[in-house]
Amino acid sequence: MDFELTDEQKARRKEFFDACKELEKLKPLRLVGIEGVFEYDECWEFHLHCARQFAQKGWLSLAWPPEYGGTGNMMDRVLFAEARGYHGIPGVDIFGVGMLAPTLIQAGSEEVKKEFLPPIARAEVMWCELWSEPNAGSDLAALSTTAIRKGDEYIINGQKTWNTGAHRADWGFGVFKTDLNARKHHNLTFILLDMKTPGITVKPIRYMDGDSPFCEVYFDDVRVPAKNIVGQENEGWAVVNTLAGFERSSLTEIMSLVRALEELVKFCNETKRNGQPLSRDPVIRNRIAQLACELEAARA
Ligand SMILES: Cc1cc2nc3c(=O)[nH]c(=O)nc-3n(C[C@H](O)[C@H](O)[C@H](O)COP(=O)(O)OP(=O)(O)OC[C@H]3O[C@@H](n4cnc5c(N)ncnc54)[C@H](O)[C@@H]3O)c2cc1C
Repeated sequence: MDFELTDEQKARRKEFFDACKELEKLKPLRLVGIEGVFEYDECWEFHLHCARQFAQKGWLSLAWPPEYGGTGNMMDRVLFAEARGYHGIPGVDIFGVGMLAPTLIQAGSEEVKKEFLPPIARAEVMWCELWSEPNAGSDLAALSTTAIRKGDEYIINGQKTWNTGAHRADWGFGVFKTDLNARKHHNLTFILLDMKTPGITVKPIRYMDGDSPFCEVYFDDVRVPAKNIVGQENEGWAVVNTLAGFERSSLTEIMSLVRALEELVKFCNETKRNGQPLSRDPVIRNRIAQLACELEAARA
């Protein structure tokens, strides 16, 4: 079997890598790691700048169905993720583009897809995830924040926590208890809500040394249109499982490690110990070779 990229894929790969290489020249020094974009204003602005550039090229909706603004194919999505990972470029909303969009494509109603997918593709709306609670983490289905149906609305009361980037987000997707009597896993509904809705209070959680990307989010009689649900009422657990399947893709992280390894090799070639470059030391050579093999296996 031939695993080489086709000429067309090589050209596409070059296009993604060239764009990310250019953006890297503008990257703030303080931007470190995926969650770094949420911490400092300059990092968030850079994230939005990259997102708008990618949106113009149609790269935030790679492999989506064309009727919702989709472009390209799955291989494009892989190559784009590799380029961003290698150059450490944000611009892809991990929650909106990475998790919610594929979930909506799979589990959303036609109405919900038409309303929420295009603004994600255009980088107009940034999202956060409102799942964990002070007493519901690993056992998420034990959550207690309620969304009680009243006419055409849900009224939400309670608290979420550890919500990455909630202080930056325009919209949030969350899971809430909508039936107080039904059995566990059949009493939750997956709801989309505007973070500017009255009654929502977002409190960033501070690290000992300053800012953090995490927040607490409080809901005090927050009214959300009932049409903003994904899947069926009280069957939100199925949607949670669908979304969780998209949460742990690590293509960008692997390529960031490829870059780190290249820099390590460069350091070992340039740094001398006892008059010899570190890269001549058999123990170091062996360790680097091991890392290279592990990374190659991870990419495959
Ligand atoms: C970097 C980061 C980003 C996050 N971002 C978000 C976000 O954007 N939105 C959001 O909603 N949440 C977010 N979270 C929260 C995350 O989903 C929770 O931390 C996670 O679900 C675990 O919950 P917990 O922290 O309450 O730990 P707990 O559930 O209290 O677990 C604590 C420890 O107990 C162990 N444990 C738990 N239950 C059992 C059991 N039955 N048997 C044996 N051991 C057990 C666990 O393995 C763990 O070691 C984030 C967390 C991290 C670390």
